[in-house]
Amino acid sequence: MTVPFLNVEATYQELKVDIDAAVARVLASGWYIHGPEVEAFEAEFAAYCGVSHAVGTANGLDALVLALRAMGIGPGDEVLVPSNTFIATWLAVTQVGATPIAVEPDPATYNMDPTRLAAAWTPRCKAIIPVHLYGQPANLAPIAAFAREKGLALIEDAAQAHGARYQGQRIGAYSDMACWSFYPGKNLGAFGDGGAVTTNNLELADKVRVLGNYGARIKYHHEALGVNSRLDPVQAAVLRVKLQHLDAWNDRRRQIAARYIEAFRSTDLGLPFAPDWAEPVWHLFVVRSQNRARLQNNLAKEGVTALIHYPIAPFMQPAYQNSGQVFPAQPIAVELARDVLSLPIGPHLQPVEQERVIAAVCKYA
Ligand SMILES: *Cc1c(COP(=O)(O)O)cnc(C)c1O
Repeated sequence: MTVPFLNVEATYQELKVDIDAAVARVLASGWYIHGPEVEAFEAEFAAYCGVSHAVGTANGLDALVLALRAMGIGPGDEVLVPSNTFIATWLAVTQVGATPIAVEPDPATYNMDPTRLAAAWTPRCKAIIPVHLYGQPANLAPIAAFAREKGLALIEDAAQAHGARYQGQRIGAYSDMACWSFYPGKNLGAFGDGGAVTTNNLELADKVRVLGNYGARIKYHHEALGVNSRLDPVQAAVLRVKLQHLDAWNDRRRQIAARYIEAFRSTDLGLPFAPDWAEPVWHLFVVRSQNRARLQNNLAKEGVTALIHYPIAPFMQPAYQNSGQVFPAQPIAVELARDVLSLPIGPHLQPVEQERVIAAVCKYA
């Protein structure tokens, strides 16, 4: 038996009848850009997140770029970002002409450490982007307090955390804007690319909508230097079906995570830690190992695929090392890049597969 890292096509098999009907409905409708399917998904996703507006985008990176642009962040500005995240968080800042300023994580939660914000801040900082890494909410209250104190825009990178709660409330409601990705492997994933920005601010929602549609509100009337970044109606129709199953799927991820944590207590692995106020949705189940390469290879020999999120911190990537920007040391991010390992998790991981993972990990860790 082999255990894949994630069985993405299982979501299709589970919902095949509904998804086929949804896709067929769009193909027959003649609405291939914008239209009722996208509008319906935007309304349903906003309601799910407990906010007033959702605007579809072509992908999660664009959602971040458009949110930054809507809030007026651009050349000369600096933006506080986690030192350990998927590179998209950093690239969005770079794409609008601003400069990413790294903030190290709390080594217990892997999320942006609010107590480090003051030291990283400069008078050029205009925004802060916490990431809810691996599906665990960042500590938003002190981050939001810091943003208010310094007059910073607060934009959440929620690409890995659909459905997560912070202090009992869904993430996305604490900030100016939250940015989502519907990349197929995310907790809420399309069958292609997709993204969204959510906000309680009508003006900001409107700016994202206009910027993502060639800067036009009315066809051929361009009020801003926009881009083409729209959520595809076929993907919107798929997402409407999947959204109805998101909570059940996240519950399944929680059960798997709880079982892993219990099973690995007796090993030397570093285990994920969720504070009381965090209700994670376990996009990834990440352990830390002093002998990661050996563990990963041994798991592969047992048919278990484990992956690394992420092997190189953004500031250490050639793209940033060759950018001319000088980065202060980020020892926690470097250490995490050296020893994190993600084990298979997902709503369709079967109990027998999970037991196989546990047996293999316990044999070698
Ligand atoms: C996936 C992801 C993104 C980007 O999403 P895409 O849809 O792939 O562009 C941004 N930030 C984080 C943290 C992500 O995991």
